[in-house]
Amino acid sequence: MPKKEHHFSTRIGWLRAAVLGANDGIVSTASLVVGVAAASAVRGDVLLAGIAGMVAGAMSMAAGEYVSVSSQADTEKADLAREKKELEINDADERQELTEIYIERGLEPTLAKQVADQLMEHDALMAHARDELGLTEIHTARPFQAAWTSALSFALGAALPLLAVFLSPTNLIIPVVVISSLFFLAGMGMLAANTGGANIWKGALRVTFWGLLAMLATFLVGRLFGTNIS
Ligand SMILES: [Zn+2]
Repeated sequence: MPKKEHHFSTRIGWLRAAVLGANDGIVSTASLVVGVAAASAVRGDVLLAGIAGMVAGAMSMAAGEYVSVSSQADTEKADLAREKKELEINDADERQELTEIYIERGLEPTLAKQVADQLMEHDALMAHARDELGLTEIHTARPFQAAWTSALSFALGAALPLLAVFLSPTNLIIPVVVISSLFFLAGMGMLAANTGGANIWKGALRVTFWGLLAMLATFLVGRLFGTNIS
């Protein structure tokens, strides 16, 4: 029995979504906290803004994920229903279509016809779904599960800079949040890169660069508006 090799793309799916959700949580909450702290808000206000930002961000991630997974599932379902109908009313054309797909992939015509015939005998809808529509696996979409997973990963990410606010003295909130958030982001970037078989340093650099840029932008906004509003 040949040894089954593992491909990175198969195991990246859910981890990638979780890491990206957590990254969003860290970047958006750390930036929010740095901006509010730069406007010389007191600790209570900084924490309140951070917690409100965490809840708002988690709910918007859940809403976005729910809508995107549901609409993707709707599209897949509609495509499959149309394909099923086509197979019922137009068997000959559908058989020819599948044969042409296999010829394009390099099979010689007689073999392509044989393969198409055998696969359509076995499971015509699955053969067309996979080779014509590109649906590698027909899975039941779980919009709620996807929504809660992304909300949870966002909230877990957001909790890190909030913890930093909670643990640091008021006058050091900004440097502690910035430095600790960059460390968390670097760790997440390495984790995602490592799971995907990519260069971990590049992965860390990418996400810390954008995280730093976001915190710098909100710091400037906080400084600018903080002095003008108060
Ligand atoms: Zn078809």
